[in-house]
Parts: sequence; structure tokens; C-alpha cells
Amino acid sequence: MEQADVTIIGAGAVGLSVASCVANGSRNVVLIERHASCGQETSSRNSEVIHASIYYPQNSLKGRFCLEGNELMYELCERHDIPHRRTGKLIVAVSEQEEEQLPQLLQTARNNGAKGVRIIGGEEMRIQEPNVSARAAILCPTSGIVDSHSLMKYYERSAIEGGAAVVYNTEVRALEKKGGGYIVRVTDTAGRDYEFRTRILINCAGLESGNVSAMLGIDVDETGYRISYCKGMYFRVSGSISRFPTMLIYPVPPWPGFVGIHTTPDLGGGMRLGPYDVWVDQIDYTVDELLRDYFYRSTVSFLPFLKMEQINPDIAGIHPKVQKEGEPMKDFIVRHEADRGLENFINLVGIESPGLTSSPAIGKYVAAMVEEIS
Ligand SMILES: Cc1cc2nc3c(=O)[nH]c(=O)nc-3n(C[C@H](O)[C@H](O)[C@H](O)COP(=O)(O)OP(=O)(O)OC[C@H]3O[C@@H](n4cnc5c(N)ncnc54)[C@H](O)[C@@H]3O)c2cc1C
Repeated sequence: MEQADVTIIGAGAVGLSVASCVANGSRNVVLIERHASCGQETSSRNSEVIHASIYYPQNSLKGRFCLEGNELMYELCERHDIPHRRTGKLIVAVSEQEEEQLPQLLQTARNNGAKGVRIIGGEEMRIQEPNVSARAAILCPTSGIVDSHSLMKYYERSAIEGGAAVVYNTEVRALEKKGGGYIVRVTDTAGRDYEFRTRILINCAGLESGNVSAMLGIDVDETGYRISYCKGMYFRVSGSISRFPTMLIYPVPPWPGFVGIHTTPDLGGGMRLGPYDVWVDQIDYTVDELLRDYFYRSTVSFLPFLKMEQINPDIAGIHPKVQKEGEPMKDFIVRHEADRGLENFINLVGIESPGLTSSPAIGKYVAAMVEEIS
């Protein structure tokens, strides 16, 4: 039976980054992906925002990886010509009541380590973004956008250059702990079954990360690893791009746990609104046209040039959440499961936002875990 040193399940941004950091030329690394190419699930269905860690506590993995990932992402993009833009972000207050909330939001952002954040008044607002209407805003200069596909292609190239085998069209169907490692049973798209041995196994299966954990006998309810689906939907804005803001424009969060429907510029000068999140039972990427009115009403107060007929349903993505509807935000799970009798199994579960921003930092962190157990 063939033998790998390290097997990674899932070629989204996180699995690819892990593969690129773990493949160092001397290890036999395999990355297994069920689709025909990388990033066909959540990693290509998101806002592509390089987050600044405004909302994630610094003592959480989300906060730590987001802050480190933000810096690493800009370095990677500059060094490897990955299309990106340091757009900056504004959290805009449109009423007196919202304006009163800005100092508290600013304090939260500073406590969480976001760099260079400050409050700006209406006049500076108009200079920064003349087509956005607001009384005041929080300016966050380290937010930006990245072309997620180019980023993933870079990770893939780097993993292959490090000696990793990236295997597409192949689904992991079963896992068994044996000796000091694991037997990985896979089926390819032609229906052929294979199995091989691996010493170290890393779960980066995104929406399937709970199910992959269960393949090794982990009780997903007891551990809190059951993935709940939350669908984020976008509308695209059509028409002349000359009036579109170049920065990311967010409202003051309308309620705790929801950052509000915001604008996301793309690298081509276009603009999307969203995401609007709803909890769902099934994976389905349709966007309900009936939400047009809600999207319009949520954004026209700060985008006064917007016309209802300018916005149309666009993409949707599914957040892989470890919290259920109504529960407070939970942290990323990144852990060596040795204490559950699963030595050499590194498990990544619930890697929702800011997972794209965090991907370079997660890759480094997991590579250090691999080094430790190698
Ligand atoms: C609406 C939305 C907006 C977001 N916006 C942002 C943002 O602006 N900035 C940000 O930083 N983050 C954002 N995120 C979060 C970010 O997109 C994710 O955290 C990140 O893409 C997760 O990457 P991943 O590699 O863990 O998962 P995925 O991209 O889902 O990759 C997992 C891969 O595993 C494969 N797989 C699963 N099971 C198996 C199996 N059994 N065998 C083989 N392959 C398997 C899948 O096919 C998939 O390709 C957003 C997410 C959503 C949903």
C-alpha cells in the first residue's frame, strides 16, 4: 500500500495554504480534493475582503489569525503579483443615534488590534468618498480586497513546487486509524476506489469538516463540531461604475453578531452588496429575488445614488458554522486530536469568516504543529 507522510483533505484556501506551508521538499505530502479544481466551494463564494480584525477578540484564534493573516496577505500579494487592493474601509453612521455608537465601536476595534482606525467627520468623509452619505465614520485603513482565485492558484503552485501531489476529482469516503497513522479510502469521479496510508492527517474539508471528523469516530454533537449552514447572499449593482465607492462601506452593525449589508468593490471596478445571511438546512446557492427590496432599503441611506432597478441577484456562499442559529459566535477549531486517541490528526472545523484573510496564518500555524509531531 502506498504511504504518504502528510495527507490534507480539501483544496480550498485553507487546505491549499496548509499544503504550501507543509510541503518543504523532504516530506511526501498529498492534498485530496473531490472537485476538478481548487476553491469550488466557500473559498470562491465570499466577499474576498482582507479583514482588519475589527470584530474578533485578539485572544481568539479568529482575531489572532486575522491580524497576522492581514499582514501576511499583503506581503504575499505584493511578492507574488496576486491582484489585490488596499481599499480601506468605512463604517458609516447615518443618524445621530448611530454616530453615538462610533466611539464604542472604535474602542472595540482598537482592543481587537485593528491598526490605524480612527473616527472621521462628515467633511473628511466627503473627500474620501464623495458619493457616500454619512454624518461620520470609522476609517479602517488596513482592510482590502484580494482576487481569491489567484491567491489559491499561488498556494497550489507553491505546494507543488514544494513537492506536494495535488489530487483532484477524488473524494475521501472513509478513514481508519491504524498503527501510528491512518488508512485513507478514496473514490475518484470514475467510481474507482483506492486506499493509502498516511502518517499525519489534516482535515481542511470546510462544510464537510464535521463529517470528516465523524469518519474517525468523533461525536460531532458532544464536541460541538457539527456544522450548521448559514447562507450569505449577494446582489450585484449594475450601471456606471464612476459613482461606486472605492472603499468598503459598512453600516454600523444593525444588531449584535451581524455586520450589516455592505458594499464590496471588486478589482474590476464593479460592486456587490451583501452578504445577507439566513440559516438553511441544505446547501443551495440560489439567491431570492424577493430580497431586492430589503437590500435596497438597507443600503440606500448611505448610497443615495442607488436605484432599485440597478441591483440584481448574484452569488451565494455558505458559512460553515459551529454555532447554531441564535448562539453567540464561536471560535475556529484548530487542534491536534491526540487527547481523543487520534494522534497525528490535525482537525480544522468551523473555518468561517475571516478564513480567507486568515489562510496564510493558519498555514503557518498548522505547519508548526506538523513540525512538532513529525
Ligand atoms: C458569504 C461568505 C462571505 C465571506 N467573506 C469573507 C471575506 O470577505 N473575507 C474572509 O476572510 N473570509 C470570508 N469568508 C470566509 C471564507 O470564505 C472561508 O473561511 C474560507 O474560504 C474557508 O476555506 P476552506 O478551505 O476552509 O473551505 P472550502 O473553501 O469550503 O474548502 C473545503 C474543500 O474541501 C473539499 N472537501 C470536502 N469534503 C471532502 C472530501 N470528503 N474529500 C475531498 N475533498 C473534500 C471541498 O470540496 C472544498 O473544496 C466568507 C464566507 C462566506 C460564506
